Amino acid sequence: AKECGRGRSAFFDVELRERMQRHMRLEQDLRGAVRNDQLWLAYQPVIDLRTDRTVAVEGLLRWTHPEHGTVSPGEFIPLAEESELINRIGGHMLSTAVHELAFHRGRCELSTRLKVNLSVRQLDDPWLLTTVRQTLSDNDLPARTLCLEITESALMRDSAEATRVLHSLRELGVSLAIDDFGTGYSSLAQLQRLPLDILKIDRSFIAELEQSPGAENIVTSIIAMAHTMNLTVVAEGVETVEQLDLLRSLGCDQAQGYYLGRPAPAREFFGAAVSDTTS
Ligand code: C2E
Ligand code: CA
Ligand code: CA
Ligand code: CA
Repeated sequence: AKECGRGRSAFFDVELRERMQRHMRLEQDLRGAVRNDQLWLAYQPVIDLRTDRTVAVEGLLRWTHPEHGTVSPGEFIPLAEESELINRIGGHMLSTAVHELAFHRGRCELSTRLKVNLSVRQLDDPWLLTTVRQTLSDNDLPARTLCLEITESALMRDSAEATRVLHSLRELGVSLAIDDFGTGYSSLAQLQRLPLDILKIDRSFIAELEQSPGAENIVTSIIAMAHTMNLTVVAEGVETVEQLDLLRSLGCDQAQGYYLGRPAPAREFFGAAVSDTTS
């Protein structure tokens, strides 16, 4: 990139300039991150509130940057989404997750589902369906094992193409979750049109649950609405036993959060076996 002239850089405050430089550096480095094996998945359990058992694991992307250390997906996924790079990263992470679950399958219940996050751009990728089908069959994993999570805001673009892709994924046997629910502005009509199985209540409502009666009312209505639509409800960001007990009493189906288990590398999460995904 071209250097700004001396006169101009005086207008930038140092912090902003540093932030922009980091942004540009990360954007460049991200291209090499897949190739250099710097991306990996941390796994977090999803617990059934009736049986207290782990019913699913969510793969969360991590980037170990050679200089910056661990960069959070909240920072680098938006960078990847600015280009086609997200499709490469998304595809790579999907196959890594499927491969790792298949590898560790003997260490968890056979019914344990795998949750992978999809970016909005991946829904527009014509290869997504083929990639999903191929990855599952390569690893002998039944489609019902996989659940793809898409944020409410991504789903609410109302793209005909994306909706078609979602239906095809569903036909394949993959289940679909709407993530971060409550932060967007979806209408019931829109929700009803989408082939969804699971609704994840955004963590911001769970965090407010004990302090604010408003949040409790919202969570109660979300659960009621979701159940009317035959959706399984997952609360995310559960950090205390009080939140957990309250959610259970409100009829929430499943929960996820630091109180139940922090995201951890595959080896730690599944046990001692070392998965070789680098070959
Ligand atoms: P998300 O899918 O809503 O994932 C939940 C986020 O909440 C994760 O942040 C997780 O580490 C964090 N979390 C879990 N339990 C708790 C808790 O009890 N308290 C708090 N404060 N946080 C908790 P993370 O790993 O930083 O991921 C952030 C977001 O990045 C994810 O939100 C997801 O939207 C996106 N993301 C992560 N991995 C991928 C991926 O492979 N592909 C795509 N497209 N997006 C991903
Ligand atoms: Ca998610
Ligand atoms: Ca979420
Ligand atoms: Ca989120």
